[in-house]
Amino acid sequence: MRCRQVIDKISEYIDGELDPELVRELERHLEHCEDCRIVVDTMHKTVEIFYHTEPAGLPDDVRQRLNGMFTQRFRKEKPH
Ligand SMILES: [Zn+2]
Repeated sequence: MRCRQVIDKISEYIDGELDPELVRELERHLEHCEDCRIVVDTMHKTVEIFYHTEPAGLPDDVRQRLNGMFTQRFRKEKPH
């Protein structure tokens, strides 16, 4: 799995909706990719804070903003 795919799957992963096989691949990637670990960690914390204050869950616009942020970050970096 590449960083790009990790970013594509990240919201499903955080939501626990990702296919178990892909979860394994994603976690294997996280073991050796610090960039993605940071992204997943940041996403996790953001979602936790958000769920804490807003029980309705993460709205689409917030999700899209986060995704856009991570996409931009990764566009600047060379692929692994
Ligand atoms: Zn990565």
